[in-house]
Amino acid sequence: MNVEKYKSELDQLKWRGLFREMSVLGTGLDRQVEVNGDKKLVFCSNNYLGLAQHPKIIEAATKGLERWGYGSGGSRLICGNTEAHEHLQGRLARKLGKEACLIFPSGYIANNVLLKTLTQKGDLIAVDKLSHASIIDGGRASDGILRAWPHRQTDRLRRLLRQRRYRHSFIVTDSLFSMDGDKAPLQELVELKQQYEATLILDEAHAFGCLGPNGMGLAEELELLDEVDIIVATFSKALGGAGAFVAGKKEVIDFLINRGRGFIYTTAIPAVNCLAAEAALDVIEKDPRRRDRLLKNAEYTHKCCAERNLNVGQSDSYIVPFMVGSSEKAVLLANTLWEHGYMAPAIRPPTVPPGSSRIRISLMSEHKRDDIYKLCQLVSKAVKVMGQY
Ligand code: PMP
Repeated sequence: MNVEKYKSELDQLKWRGLFREMSVLGTGLDRQVEVNGDKKLVFCSNNYLGLAQHPKIIEAATKGLERWGYGSGGSRLICGNTEAHEHLQGRLARKLGKEACLIFPSGYIANNVLLKTLTQKGDLIAVDKLSHASIIDGGRASDGILRAWPHRQTDRLRRLLRQRRYRHSFIVTDSLFSMDGDKAPLQELVELKQQYEATLILDEAHAFGCLGPNGMGLAEELELLDEVDIIVATFSKALGGAGAFVAGKKEVIDFLINRGRGFIYTTAIPAVNCLAAEAALDVIEKDPRRRDRLLKNAEYTHKCCAERNLNVGQSDSYIVPFMVGSSEKAVLLANTLWEHGYMAPAIRPPTVPPGSSRIRISLMSEHKRDDIYKLCQLVSKAVKVMGQY
């Protein structure tokens, strides 16, 4: 096999400061990870509520392993389906006020299958430009016409919808944007969906478990759950596990079961993941203080950033980007943070647009005020020093 082509492309990435490598770290316990004896505070995990290490979830998963074993042995339609899958689907559908729900092995697969399966030739798939890669890739893989509107600019979406030359229009967006920490203008999207008789698909991956009076996400917070046609969310973030789901009308879910190749032809997510997600939902229901702590930490972080004039873009949540611009500066800042005991890697293109490299921190309910204060102090100092070069 000739690997020259790959090597030269990888070399180019290295020269441009865009080469990526995985380090062996793990998320560690709580908010802290230990690397070669050194403690690092984790500021880059999606484990927003600290549930990945919660005793109730570990207990549920352990019991699940004893009851169901680990691997599911086949696709959901062959022999991989269990009461655990069905129970969780029913619970999620009820909580979101939707007719039905379908669980997938991951959020990436869920978005891919959803967009590829529901859309047809001549359909418009209009996505916010900064939507997650799984939405963009799902749109690309579909027979529909994928068009991106500039981030949160609903007037540009309106222009797309107004053309009316499409068979049907789908509006798709993240609710809380994972790299920017800002939120979709959901009320306006609902109005546009109604006016142009479009289907609104909302990816609540980063909001599910955290936002809304019951932690059901941004749509719940804004009392717009009934207006959103299809909700996607994951178990891999605030729920501290792995897997994802799509909730909506029964016909949509039945169609995905019958026509979604990425659902039909993949091995079912293990039952143990469903039991862990159920336990996470129990904690979210019974212990709203975790959500409160997360939101208070977000408020405090924004206060610290504002006092130091740090550029955090349009963030108004527990996802906070420290915008630095070039990839080199972002890597330099990440290294500085690492040396001072913080784990928050650089986010560079293609994950974010060129020239907008950043350190994106994600807060947890388990962070202490002092952790946040010291981090903001350090970033502020480092940014000032970097500005001199
Ligand atoms: N949607 C969004 C908005 C995401 O941020 C992510 C993961 N980063 C996904 C979907 C994919 O979810 P998963 O990690 O479960 O594949």
